[in-house]
Amino acid sequence: MKDISCKLLVIGAGPGGYVCAIRAGQLGLDTVIVEERKPGGTCLNVGCIPSKALIHAAEEYDRIVHLASGKNPFGIKAKKPELDLSQTIAWKDNIVGRLNSGVSSLLKRAKVKMVQGRARFRDGKTVEVETETGRQVIHADNVVIATGSAPVELPNLPFGGSVISSTEALALTSVPERLVVVGGGYIGLELGTAFAKMGAKVTVVEAQARILPQYDAELTRPVAKRLQALGIEVMTHAKAKGLAKAGGMLLVETESGSEVSLAADKILVTVGRRPVTQGWGMEELVLDTDGPFIRIDERCQTSMRGIYAIGDVTGEPMLAHRAMAQGEMVAEIIAGHKRAWDKRAIPAVCFTDPEIVAVGLTADEAHKAGIEVRAGHFPFSANGRAMTKLGEEGFVRVVARADNHLVLGIQAVGQGVSELSAAFGLALEMGARIEDIAGTIHAHPTQGEAFQEGALKALGRELHI
Ligand code: FAD
Ligand code: NAD
Repeated sequence: MKDISCKLLVIGAGPGGYVCAIRAGQLGLDTVIVEERKPGGTCLNVGCIPSKALIHAAEEYDRIVHLASGKNPFGIKAKKPELDLSQTIAWKDNIVGRLNSGVSSLLKRAKVKMVQGRARFRDGKTVEVETETGRQVIHADNVVIATGSAPVELPNLPFGGSVISSTEALALTSVPERLVVVGGGYIGLELGTAFAKMGAKVTVVEAQARILPQYDAELTRPVAKRLQALGIEVMTHAKAKGLAKAGGMLLVETESGSEVSLAADKILVTVGRRPVTQGWGMEELVLDTDGPFIRIDERCQTSMRGIYAIGDVTGEPMLAHRAMAQGEMVAEIIAGHKRAWDKRAIPAVCFTDPEIVAVGLTADEAHKAGIEVRAGHFPFSANGRAMTKLGEEGFVRVVARADNHLVLGIQAVGQGVSELSAAFGLALEMGARIEDIAGTIHAHPTQGEAFQEGALKALGRELHI
């Protein structure tokens, strides 16, 4: 097979890699992208998109179950629904398939050459790819590593049989009767909640003192309350020790140091993700690292000239939109534009029930950084639109500098608040003051009004509470 030479080689076609390649193509860079699986990476194939499809289907099912229970206040009478999970999964796979084709078309339109197969570094400027038709050698002036992440495996609970990762959980065609989730973080709670709504008896085993330890306790309290209402048992300060010899049982060490066994048809292990940095020749380049991740500077440049790294392989926050923003920036840098990472904040959304959004600093984080703050907190229980949706649980919180009122952070928990993340992110990125938010007309009746009211409250001028 004839060698290929290009200006830019991107390894991995996840959200980081494919966005980088599309932007590079648009800028006229001669670009090649290598992907060993399917375009779209973790996010599109086994992450963001399929999980949100499953979460939505579970919500729809749960809503009808609730209506059928006769306990709803709307006067709606409904029959108990049935769920065919294999059909749900087929619907989800169809969405994924359409998006796979969409990404391939966008790459093609940007004149990016796609090579299917596993890349392996020969040296810093040369990569070999094992393709279906033989070995392809690619020489590149610049290389972007965008190989993403994979689920962390617990040594005492390796994947296989009843022990599954999120990838297998998103492909189950029947709802397990008893599901134990090890790790009460993003994936464990998003998927654990979905399976509970679909009828599984779910237990969450979390090593820390509370679920979603990356968020503050006030934000996670409504989520914990809802888990309880859904019948999900949460064990905190608890560690999975391994499978019991008898089978079908997970041994768990509790806070007191005693051991309990939990009956489980499936054990979903979601204790974090690790960067894909080994087994494909990258380690031989001896790039500087930051723990297990590749160390990068503000231009996503690694310790080796001409080699960049973006996305999950570079560490937290491991979020698709961060990977995309890095990918776009690196393409422009390679095309000669003056760019550096200058984002004020990366919004984080947890698609639990209710949802959590966090952008920028909390009041505690600002205090720790020595900044005096002024904060406003507005509950959805005082928001008309939330009341009409039975979504009174939760709030919006606005945190700003006490001296000049520059908004430092915005957090919210509540039904459907993921869609407010755009307004929150924009406010921070535009350098909004509390007065800007308070002075913006927010349409009525919407949950967004709680954002304006939070700002008014921070100014001591709240109107609806
Ligand atoms: P990836 O998406 O992991 O893509 C890397 C690609 O590189 C893969 O396609 C892989 O096959 C390929 N690759 C690796 N090694 C090689 C090689 N040697 N040769 C060729 N190809 C290679 N993030 C959010 O922002 N919002 C969410 O709602 C969300 N939900 C999630 C739900 C789940 C269940 C999971 C698992 C993750 C979720 N994430 C979410 C995280 C998100 O998926 C990642 O942050 C994102 O995919 C990272 O993008 P990336 O481009 O860095 O890497
Ligand atoms: P996570 O870091 O969110 O949660 C892991 C949890 O497991 C933590 O609460 C941790 O305390 C716990 N834990 C660790 N070891 C344990 C053990 N031995 N026993 C019991 N508990 C243990 O990780 P995740 O849920 O696997 O998700 C991985 C990453 O994927 C996230 O960090 C996030 O970046 C990304 N993600 C994002 C979204 C989103 O944006 N909505 C959704 C899913 C995943």
